[in-house]
Amino acid sequence: MATTEGYASRPGGAQAELLAEVNKHEAEHNLELVWAEFRNYQQGIMPAGPGARELTEFFAHVDGKLAADAPGAPKAQASDRDVLNLMTKRARTLHLGTANYCWFTDPSRALCLRLAGTPAADKPLIGMCDSARRPQATHHPCHRPVWAEHAANTRRFLGQLGPARKTEKARLRADHDRALRVLDAIDAASPDTDHQEQHADHT
Ligand code: SF4
Repeated sequence: MATTEGYASRPGGAQAELLAEVNKHEAEHNLELVWAEFRNYQQGIMPAGPGARELTEFFAHVDGKLAADAPGAPKAQASDRDVLNLMTKRARTLHLGTANYCWFTDPSRALCLRLAGTPAADKPLIGMCDSARRPQATHHPCHRPVWAEHAANTRRFLGQLGPARKTEKARLRADHDRALRVLDAIDAASPDTDHQEQHADHT
């Protein structure tokens, strides 16, 4: 906060400098996340969610490039650069939500922007994302706790509703079922991970 204020109060457009710094850190962080997910992929921990297939295909493509890049091969350096470019490009499309990743590769598929009436925006409105149904969204083991908590909360609220509250019950039931489906999909995509609370909410 103090740093931000310091930058902002300085005359001469220091905010732009701060913004550039923030963007740089964000870009680096996103690139780290893409590499982390790629390593997960190599260990059989796959992404889940509607955008999972596309992301898996991308990782397979990168993996193929790395495999071709045997030590000592004449094209090794060019191939390394290619891989880094691919990963950096992909990292630029990544937006982080609390419950999902959004790979904003094709703005025309961004329902959040269409719903907000800003289809030409260059960033998604991830707070409006219904990630279980959006083609650019993926779920990963790091999102599991949020979905597990959501499932537990909706279940608790359901238990508190009297029989007359049919509409709310139906809405909460749908919400609860969706959370369970997301959890199941995350677990199925990462079969060797220790899912401590796996199915805890199915009881
Ligand atoms: S609806 Fe969700 S997945 Fe689609 S662009 Fe918006 S934030 Fe990304």
